[in-house]
Amino acid sequence: MELEKLYQTLDQLYDEMVDIRRHLHMNPELSFEEVETPKYVANYHQLLGHDVRTEVGGRGVVAKLVGGKPGPTIALRADFDALPIQELTDVPFKSKVDGVMHACGHDGHTAELLVLAKALNSMQDELEGTIVFIHQHAEEFQPGGAIAMIEDGCLEGVDVIFGTHLQAVKPYGEVSFRVGPTMAAADRFHITIKGKGGHGAQPHLSKDSIVVGAQLVMNLQQVVSRRVSPIESAVLSVGNFVAKNAFNVIADTAQLDGTVRTFKEDVRDLVEKEMERVVKGTCLAAGVDYEFSYLRGYPSLVNHQEETEFVASVLEDVPGVESVTESPLQMAGEDFSYYLQHVKGSYFYTGARNPEWEEAYPHHHPKFDLDERGMLVAAKCLGKVAVEYAKKEVKQAVK
Ligand code: MN
Repeated sequence: MELEKLYQTLDQLYDEMVDIRRHLHMNPELSFEEVETPKYVANYHQLLGHDVRTEVGGRGVVAKLVGGKPGPTIALRADFDALPIQELTDVPFKSKVDGVMHACGHDGHTAELLVLAKALNSMQDELEGTIVFIHQHAEEFQPGGAIAMIEDGCLEGVDVIFGTHLQAVKPYGEVSFRVGPTMAAADRFHITIKGKGGHGAQPHLSKDSIVVGAQLVMNLQQVVSRRVSPIESAVLSVGNFVAKNAFNVIADTAQLDGTVRTFKEDVRDLVEKEMERVVKGTCLAAGVDYEFSYLRGYPSLVNHQEETEFVASVLEDVPGVESVTESPLQMAGEDFSYYLQHVKGSYFYTGARNPEWEEAYPHHHPKFDLDERGMLVAAKCLGKVAVEYAKKEVKQAVK
């Protein structure tokens, strides 16, 4: 049975997968500054004889493996950028680059996809359809690499796309999926309140931007609590409020920055529109000027129903998978969302928390680490999803 063979090959290649991950971990590169990583990835695929395109949408790499039998074109995506974080782990393969760290597991994503490519390559003759390996740069930093790679044609001819994110806070052996909205749209806003400075003893001669700012922080909370339907979810957080002055001076300007997270486009539109109104109204009442900007980040990640149900149905008996659960909504953002706006597909999670760890550090933490066995599970899951999806489509085409 070809799946058994795929799992066996992946088991045999596990040491190589770990070596690749550790090599990348030691040599992390920031979003939009990746040079060696895409070179490494492209070289690996070239040695396998795959058709490789580099500099896709900037720094992305796309490789193609054409199976020996006809079938659909299935894309599998892994991101490869790191974060501006100083690593504080004690692992022997610690980052060699000051202030840069693979603290989200993208080193693992790349290692698992490369080795899966090698394993699938070894069974090319039996493989139905074509596999497109999308190695994406710059997931961590807006506007992200996905949108540029799509514009540069990485999804041309692709019928369906799958991907998985390792989760260091979810136990090894657990995989999870979710139909529909899964990860949030992550937007940011900036407000400048333009009052009039003055003596703290003479407030009537000035326009106090701190008082207006404080009102704004409170009034903005009502956008979520009183404008968004209680059935929907949204977050509006002010993370920065600056109006620095001496203790006896009335602040002339105040700056507020914050983030908005939503799952549906109509809720997102509503929050932006209502915020604008609240800012305008509050400032008008106080007689101050303002600037308001709302910057849209990645859209919400919306998994397609049929493909996600398919993923959930095939993962259960993958070796290493102990449980398949439904993932809760995640307020984090992910630019895999753009691929899902163009082709059908699904993005799922693979647990990578070592059961023996007392504490698992969250993603983007300086002590973040993975149970590397999670990579093997992820590769087997993605491999099975691709092989079984092709089989299903070929069968349906015959009918
Ligand atoms: Mn990530």
